[in-house]
Amino acid sequence: MSKECNHFSQEKEGIPPNTKSCEEGEKEHLPVVALRMCLACGHVGCCDSSIGKHATKHFQETGHPVMKSIQESSQKWCYVHEEYY
Ligand SMILES: [Zn+2]
Ligand SMILES: [Zn+2]
Ligand SMILES: [Zn+2]
Repeated sequence: MSKECNHFSQEKEGIPPNTKSCEEGEKEHLPVVALRMCLACGHVGCCDSSIGKHATKHFQETGHPVMKSIQESSQKWCYVHEEYY
């Protein structure tokens, strides 16, 4: 399989985050380590270091492959290729 990632071409420019914190985690009052925003629909979920792992669950439920880290850098993560860009 090619390591070339073309998932970011599906990215919509300037899509705003749906929520300030993890959408599901806020309801369940779970602590959040870091946030990832889905570049396809603006869903905000917590990363794999958080208890909820809602960003990964969002990928599994929707198949939206690319997330952007909200806090530190604006690094992008592709779930299909499991790599930062
Ligand atoms: Zn990819
Ligand atoms: Zn969460
Ligand atoms: Zn999404």
